[in-house]
Amino acid sequence: MPKFFDTLDNLCRFLSQINQEKCPTCQNTNLLVPHSWVYKYSSSHQRHIVGKRLWCSPRYQRGGCGASHRLYLRFALPGLCYLAAQLTIFVTAFLTTRSVPKAYQQATGATESRNGYRWLARIKFRVSDYRTALAKPTTLTTSFSGAQFPQYQVVLETLSQLKGELGENICEAFQLRFQKSFF
Ligand SMILES: [Zn+2]
Repeated sequence: MPKFFDTLDNLCRFLSQINQEKCPTCQNTNLLVPHSWVYKYSSSHQRHIVGKRLWCSPRYQRGGCGASHRLYLRFALPGLCYLAAQLTIFVTAFLTTRSVPKAYQQATGATESRNGYRWLARIKFRVSDYRTALAKPTTLTTSFSGAQFPQYQVVLETLSQLKGELGENICEAFQLRFQKSFF
């Protein structure tokens, strides 16, 4: 079952045929039921749809396993209150400046950068996933080697290659193409 959708229209079209899909937990068909929308709240207290909850319904003796699942629009970051576009700005700025505080400030406007180091730690944790996703991962050697940031070398090279393959909107493109959360 896909997890990320290009547009709300495509997500709704998929939901209209949800009874043909297997529950990822129990593998039975005809049990998934659309549940509530997932929202992101903006600073002006407006809410925007970023996804949809599904439920494998055990009601009315349907026999569902009760698991819940979430489908997302490509610009969502599952589990976070930020958008993929902000993470893309962080990645792009980090590639250019090699500075977590600067990249995090460009992405979020925040001057306190502790959370930026958490973002980088999450990216580091996912590097092997990114490298598996790359069509032609090059050997880790040249462009960033010998830099004054040896601890970031693998991350920098991998993000640079991903950007080369996926284009400017690296996080959204990754989520849509590989159907996996970037984080
Ligand atoms: Zn189920």
